[in-house]
Formats: sequence, structure tokens, C-alpha cells
Amino acid sequence: MLSKEHQLAKKAYKILIADLPKNELGKALEQVKQITRPSKKKPLQLTSKVKIHPTEEQKEVLWALAENCRLIHYFANKERKEWWEKNKHLPKKKRDKENKPTYKKQSKQLPKLKELYPRYQQNYSKTLQDTLKQLEADNKSFFALRVNGDEDAKPPGFKGKKYFTTMHFNQSGFKIKGATITLSHFYPTRETKEIDLTFEMQGKLTFADKEVKQVTIYQLHKTKEFYLSIIYEENTPEYYDNGIYQTIDLGVINFVAAVNSHEGKTITIKNKRVDKYWQPKIEELMSKRDYCKKYSNRWRWYNNKLTKISKKQANQRKDFQHKISKKIVENTKANTIIIGDLNVKEMSKSEKKDRKNDKSRHRSMQSSGLLGRFAGFLTYKAKKMGKKVIRISERDTTKLCPYCMNKENRALSERIISCDCGLEMDRDTSSAGTQMQRFLALLALSRKRLVIRQRLLKDFREKFFATHSQTSNESSSSNGVGRTRNKVNDVNQFQ
Ligand SMILES: [Zn+2]
Repeated sequence: MLSKEHQLAKKAYKILIADLPKNELGKALEQVKQITRPSKKKPLQLTSKVKIHPTEEQKEVLWALAENCRLIHYFANKERKEWWEKNKHLPKKKRDKENKPTYKKQSKQLPKLKELYPRYQQNYSKTLQDTLKQLEADNKSFFALRVNGDEDAKPPGFKGKKYFTTMHFNQSGFKIKGATITLSHFYPTRETKEIDLTFEMQGKLTFADKEVKQVTIYQLHKTKEFYLSIIYEENTPEYYDNGIYQTIDLGVINFVAAVNSHEGKTITIKNKRVDKYWQPKIEELMSKRDYCKKYSNRWRWYNNKLTKISKKQANQRKDFQHKISKKIVENTKANTIIIGDLNVKEMSKSEKKDRKNDKSRHRSMQSSGLLGRFAGFLTYKAKKMGKKVIRISERDTTKLCPYCMNKENRALSERIISCDCGLEMDRDTSSAGTQMQRFLALLALSRKRLVIRQRLLKDFREKFFATHSQTSNESSSSNGVGRTRNKVNDVNQFQ
């Protein structure tokens, strides 16, 4: 007869796989199979944002160049709209395809335009071409949305004179020397150009050893600050499966709860709730602002202050996410990190009900896509180190007891889950443990060998529950994991 441990591992295997809807199972298996596939040697494309401080003279040049792009955008867009007005009532086959404006045709007209209107010669020509290319892309995505039934989708509109048109420079369009970058232009003319668009790039990053592919200059309309967005490539170490895995549960209270497969060890990182500090300040400023006459000087003063504070808060959040994702990727022995597939995040009925009470908690994490951004940070930082992040469905991981696999709906406010089998565990740690078991079950399934199937899961369960109980013996909860009832403190409970 099988031991109890063995039976539980078998049960876990069944439940974790069988309870996944077919499409989620397929998606998850596809991700798991990536582990055995050798990674293509493709350099990692990264983007860096750098704030620059143009002088007044440089601003004048930048605005003149951006205005040229805006005009090109305006006329090209007008041409497209006029064609559409003429042709939209006709059946598709009868529309005047020959004169239909496309990026190809419109960019071919640029040399002629430059001759007719010398002002367009002021721009590095790629900036004008890319404006047309962007317009085409925007049009395409608009039609795609409409075709898919999105009635609210709006076609690309005309931009006002007040808006700085974003400009892309590539190939010969920029030069980087140490910490300075120079953008090409010919303002006011090729011969009389006097103002160089050379900017200091402050920050830790140097581009000396990197291949920079494109530089984009844009302005934040609200703050009037100028930024460069620099796309560069970096070669990364090759990924290989070293047999060690780390699952991470991204949560609200515990920002991260992680479990590794080879020791069953867990770590939890408390979320830094920057909004707790800033929110009262923001609300106070808001009420003060709203007390003033709209657009009066005082109103503007408060409004500026609000913008600054909101930015500070957003930056702190981002820094925290950068720090944590870096720490995780650098410290884990695993080459493979498993996170939940955020696209299939589902919510139980009790959680939905709970949401009203926990509105602010939800708002702070989920509404602004913070989780998605964190997952993004994690993914590229891992890739940089030759590691890999895969995403598998988290369905029911908060409901299932990681030990006995009994399912129970739990309110989001229940931070410690306690199961009839005697298990008591921090909610997020428990989810990460369940998710690890699901991953191992999927891994076994993808390898199709029964022996491996049983061994992987069973081994992990032994380590996980043993480690968990040991921690709880040592201290109450220094690392946030070891909160257990006496019942479970005895390791033998799980053997
Ligand atoms: Zn249980």
C-alpha cells in the first residue's frame, strides 16, 4: 500500500492538473516546455529613459523640428481622412486603391515636399518618415479595434500646436560620446545651423559597451520636461535548466512570497505601502486646491504641487519594484522563475464580495497594473542573467490547501489560512507552495514519465512542509512564514 505521503502527492498531482480548464492547461504546458528548449541567441532589447535639460535655444530648435513633424502628420492624416470620406460608402472592391494613401506612398513624397517647402529640410529625415510610419501604425490599430467590435475606438486625430511631437532618431541620427548624446538636425538650414542638440545624460547607465538602436525624444505635456528614450541591445548569458525552480506569488500585503524547489525554503517580502504615507498629503492638497477658483494662481500652485507629489509617489513605487525584482533574480539559485499568468487571474465569489471592504487595498495594487509592471521587471532582469521567467495559471492557488488539497473559498482578509488537516500557513506562502506543486506536476506531465511525476512532487512536499515547520519552531515570525498552530509544529504530522 502507498504511504499517506505518497497518496497525498498523487492527489495533489491530480487536482492541480485536472482542475485547470483546457486552455489554461495548454498555455501552462507550452510555458513549461520552454524550459527544455535551448534559448535562441538573441540579444536582449532594453529601453532606458533619460531626463535631459535643453537650454532655451535648444528648446527653440526642438520645437521647430517637432512642429515640422506635426505638420507632416497633419497633412498626411488629412489625406487619409479625405480618401476615406470619398471611399467609405463604396464596397471594398470598388474603392480607389490606386490613390489610397499609405506609408509607402506618403514617404515617397517627402523629397518633393522638401524641395517645395525647405523647412522640412531642417529635420533629420528619419524623424519625418517615422512620423508617417507611426500614423500608419495608429490607423491599423484603429481598424483592428473596430473590426473586433470596439465602437469606442477613435481614428488618429490631429495634434494641437501645444503638443511636442515625439521624434525618433536612428542609424546616423545620433552620436553618443561618453555621457553626452547629440541628435542630428539642420536648423535653420544645413549651412547656418549653430545650435547643437547635445545633451548630458545623467544617471548611472553608460552606453559605451552597448549597441544603441534608436533614440526617441519626447516631452511630458504636464510637466514640460524633456526625456530621451534609448533603445539598446545587450548580450545575455544563455539559459539552461539547472533543475532548481522558484515560484513567486505576487500579492498585496506580502508583495512577494517565494518558494524554491530544491530546499522548500520560502521568503516573503512585505509590500512597501508608499501610498499610506503620501495619500493623506495628496488628499489634503486636493481639497485645498478644489477650494480655490479653478485655474486661479493659487489653484495652479496647489495643482503643481499635486503633480510633483504624485510623481514622487510613483517613483518610489517603481524604485521599490526595481529593487525587489533585482534582489530576487540575483539571489535565487533557480534558473527558472515561475509566476502567475496575470491574464487568467480569476477571483472567487467571496473575494469579489470582499473587494468592497478591501477597496483601497485592491486599488493600490491591481488597478494601475503594478503587478504587470513588476512581472515585466522580473522578466527582463532574469533574462539579463541568463534566467527565465515563465507564467502559469494561478487558478485556485489561494483556495487549495497546499498540504491536503482540500478546496475552500477564503476571504481576502484572511491572511493566515487554516485547514481542517491542521495546516496553518501565511496565505501568500501557501499560494506559492501550491503553485510550485502545480508547476512540478506540469513539468512531470510534460516529461511523461510516471516515476518522475511522483518523485518531483513528493520530494518537494517533504522539503516544503519540513522547512515550514522548522521555521515556526525557531521564532514566531521573523520572516513572515512561520505562523503555525502547535498542531503543525511537529514535523511528523506530515510524514
Ligand atoms: Zn489541508
